[in-house]
Amino acid sequence: MAALQHSRFCKGCWEQMHLPVPLRGVISAPFRAFGVRPSRMNPNTCTICELMFTKVMRVRKITIDATVMFADLRGYTSLSQSRSAEAVSGLLDAFYDECADAIWQHDGLLNKTIGDAVMAVFNFPLQRDDHARNALLAARDIQRNWRERRDSLAAALGLNAGELGIGIGIHAGELSFGEFGRSHKDLTAIGTVVNTASRAQSVAQADQILVTQAVYQRAQPDLQDSHAKTFQLKGFDAPIELYAA
Ligand SMILES: [Zn+2]
Repeated sequence: MAALQHSRFCKGCWEQMHLPVPLRGVISAPFRAFGVRPSRMNPNTCTICELMFTKVMRVRKITIDATVMFADLRGYTSLSQSRSAEAVSGLLDAFYDECADAIWQHDGLLNKTIGDAVMAVFNFPLQRDDHARNALLAARDIQRNWRERRDSLAAALGLNAGELGIGIGIHAGELSFGEFGRSHKDLTAIGTVVNTASRAQSVAQADQILVTQAVYQRAQPDLQDSHAKTFQLKGFDAPIELYAA
C-alpha cells in the first residue's frame, strides 16, 4: 500500500486553537527547533497536541468519551518461534503499517503497539462526534487491506494466507486518558472501556471484528445487518453481547 499523504499543518492545533502549526517542509524548521514535531501516534497532529492537557490544562489526566480499538495478528506468537527473527519482523512491520494507515485515515491515535497487537484511541486529540463509526471504518479498512496484502506475506513464509488473520475488538465510552506511571511515563488510556475492547479482541476470530452494544448503537446505520452473540469474557462477571461487524 502506498504511503499516505500526511497533513502539512497540525490538524489538532488548527481545530482546537486555530493555530497553523507546520509539521512538514521548510517552514516547520523553527518549530522543530523547539521540539514541535509530528506525533508518532498520529502524524497529522503534533507533540503539542499530545501534551496539551498536561501543559495547557495543568492536569495529569482527563476523562473523555472515546472509542478504543484493539487489533491482534493471530498466530504470530507461534510463528515467531518457528521462523527467523528477520522473517517475522517484516510481517509485524506490514501489520503495524496497515493498522497505522487505517487509524490515521480515520483520525484516530495509534496509542500503543503491544507485541503482535495495536491499541488505538478515537476522539483524542482530534475530536470527532462519530468516533465510534471512525473506529469501525478503520477496522474494516485494516481487514480489507490485510486480506489483499497477506497472500504475498504468507507465501514468503510458506504459509496459507488464512493463517495470517487479524482479530479486532472495539468498545466506546468514558475512559481516563493521561500520563500514567512514575518512573516510566506513558501517555495512554485506562479503564473498563479499554479492558472490554481488549477482551472483545481476544474472543474475535481471525478476520473478524467484534464490537460492543455501545459501538453497535453509535455506529448505525453502518451496523444494521450485524447480529449479537453472548460471550463470557475473562475477568467479567456478567456475560456480554458482542456484534460481528
Ligand atoms: Zn498540534
